[in-house]
Amino acid sequence: MKEIIKRYLQNPDFTKEEFVELLQCADDPEARAALAEEAVRLQKLYYGNKVYTRGLIEFTNYCKNNCYYCGIRRGNLHAKRYRLTKDEILSCCETGYDLGYRTFVLQGGEDAWFTDDRMVEIIREIKERYPDCALTLSIGEKSYESYKRFREAGADRYLLRHETANERHYHQLHPEQMSLMNRMRCLRDLKALGYQTGAGCMVGSPGQTIECLAEDLVFLKELQPEMVGIGPFIPHHDTMFADSPAGSVDQTVFLLSVIRILLPKVLLPATTALGTMDPKGREKGILAGANVVMPNLSPVKNRKQYELYDNKICTGEESAECRGCLAGRMASIGYELAFERGDAYMNNKSE
Ligand code: SAH
Repeated sequence: MKEIIKRYLQNPDFTKEEFVELLQCADDPEARAALAEEAVRLQKLYYGNKVYTRGLIEFTNYCKNNCYYCGIRRGNLHAKRYRLTKDEILSCCETGYDLGYRTFVLQGGEDAWFTDDRMVEIIREIKERYPDCALTLSIGEKSYESYKRFREAGADRYLLRHETANERHYHQLHPEQMSLMNRMRCLRDLKALGYQTGAGCMVGSPGQTIECLAEDLVFLKELQPEMVGIGPFIPHHDTMFADSPAGSVDQTVFLLSVIRILLPKVLLPATTALGTMDPKGREKGILAGANVVMPNLSPVKNRKQYELYDNKICTGEESAECRGCLAGRMASIGYELAFERGDAYMNNKSE
């Protein structure tokens, strides 16, 4: 086994320079297998063979931002915009609840129509109807005050990928009005407000180097998020990165193992993007240490419109089919879908 892998397994408290050396092994199947073995040991230690499920509701694709990689960015005039009504959102929850889901994730672009007042009303209503469910928000950058109001209304968790911890790279991916500093301010606010907080990044995004990924890992170690979302970058045809290569599945699963070892109890999804890049991508993610899947609960008529990247999977299927399909996939590798809230351990220490 390579020396650097051995050292990581002994003590993952790596510097940026050590992570750079570690990341150079991502192409080596033996290195991936060694990390996956330890990652799965930790995953099983804390979660057994259970894979938590989150019902994902993509409730609006309007967005005021213009992130260069994203298919629903404001500047994409070809995107057909939609937003769900409160009743449609509630009806997605009902379908999801009946299918057994006990976490709902409301994800969307940064859509000004959903003012804080409207969001608070939706959050309250969901929590009132489904008090036994966790509610996760993924609606971008807001003020401390807004996050506080959502939290007081009952939101439990918040997903906000940092996208990259490197300032220069951040500006390659985002227009000038957006800043890494604000992104990080948001993540700290969310933690301070007691949200189970998720950070993360794309793997193989344009301009990303191994040094960037090493900085992402150092940042994650410092932030100690309860959840980490990573998936391969996939080009979208209506963006300036249309011809950029997609991120690699091997590098993504390598990173999933690295992150599981770095933050042993973290909630770590095998993402839809990973499933899009490889028909067995989500299975590979679980076998590398991931422990969450996020099946789609959005209305079938809108699924294709929530197009962050090309060829997204599961856009034609009913919610019930997604559940059945994923249950089969997980069973095929010896795991079981779990239909409980699946809250985070509120610390990531390995004790
Ligand atoms: N607007 C919200 C949530 C929606 S985007 C927010 O900003 O947090 C959810 C995630 O999808 C983003 O954080 C990004 O990492 C990912 N994403 C966007 N475009 C992508 C692409 N082309 N390929 C892969 N992932 C992408």
